[in-house]
Amino acid sequence: MILHTIAEVREQIKEWKKQGLSVGLVPTMGALHAGHKSLIDKSVEKCDRTVVSVFVNPIQFGPSEDLDKYPRTLDADAEMCKNAGVDIVFAPSPKEMYGEGHIMSNDFLTYVIPPYFYVDKLCGKSRIGHFDGVCTVVNKLFNIVQPDFAFFGQKDAQQLIIIRKMVNDLNIPVEIISCPIVREESGLALSSRNKYLNPQEKEQALALSKILYNIKVCYDKGVTDTRALFETAYGFLTPAHSLEYLDFRDENDLEEKTVADDNTRVFIAVKIGNVRLIDNILLGEN
Ligand code: AMP
Repeated sequence: MILHTIAEVREQIKEWKKQGLSVGLVPTMGALHAGHKSLIDKSVEKCDRTVVSVFVNPIQFGPSEDLDKYPRTLDADAEMCKNAGVDIVFAPSPKEMYGEGHIMSNDFLTYVIPPYFYVDKLCGKSRIGHFDGVCTVVNKLFNIVQPDFAFFGQKDAQQLIIIRKMVNDLNIPVEIISCPIVREESGLALSSRNKYLNPQEKEQALALSKILYNIKVCYDKGVTDTRALFETAYGFLTPAHSLEYLDFRDENDLEEKTVADDNTRVFIAVKIGNVRLIDNILLGEN
């Protein structure tokens, strides 16, 4: 069932709640792939009912980012959801979510701003205001769907950590379920933005996972000095790669690490051509 309005979703959710059914929410921007599917499968397995939201959220894109060309494939997304056992695909318009002018208009003025300490680093550093947009839309989706569980991928680990913090700080009655990164056999983390890559760039994109895996191998062999671990990346970078960051941070609070341990997550962002790709790995994971 594809629903486009908040009122229709609320009505259905009310019915389910009356019946005592548990509700899972998987927030997405669509162009669904096997990474999204892993979140959807978890929700369908765990919850009586599953809602997948498909919304390319304008307020989390910067002025020079890819809002207009972001892939939109609602028919294919709905088909995948149907086959996966999803009960509702919620695909609102920007107007439905934010009113007529939706940005800088009097229709929509209230934002949820995450703590500065969590956003002044990694993706937040180059994507100013991005996590304000993410927290605001996720909060709205939580209020619309009132899920018991919400599923987020570790692919966007900074986002996951920020959302956990928001849920905790604002006492939002939802349990956040963290789901592992799904990769191609080559190691490349699945992403809707991989569609922008030509074959040569796709090959170059393998550097991200290679750098992370190599760091993990070095860590497993006993190297814990993060500067030494950082330097192992150079062998994988070519002039085609513009490294935005390679950071070693605590898994729970994003504090920078000089000595790596099992709770250290290594975050990387690289631009290849015009495409910005991110990936990460937890050093303690098997
Ligand atoms: P997006 O549509 O890119 O906003 O992603 C929606 C959700 O899917 C987010 O929680 C992402 O972290 C998650 N996701 C995207 N790609 C992957 C992946 N390769 N593996 C696991 N989760 C993913």
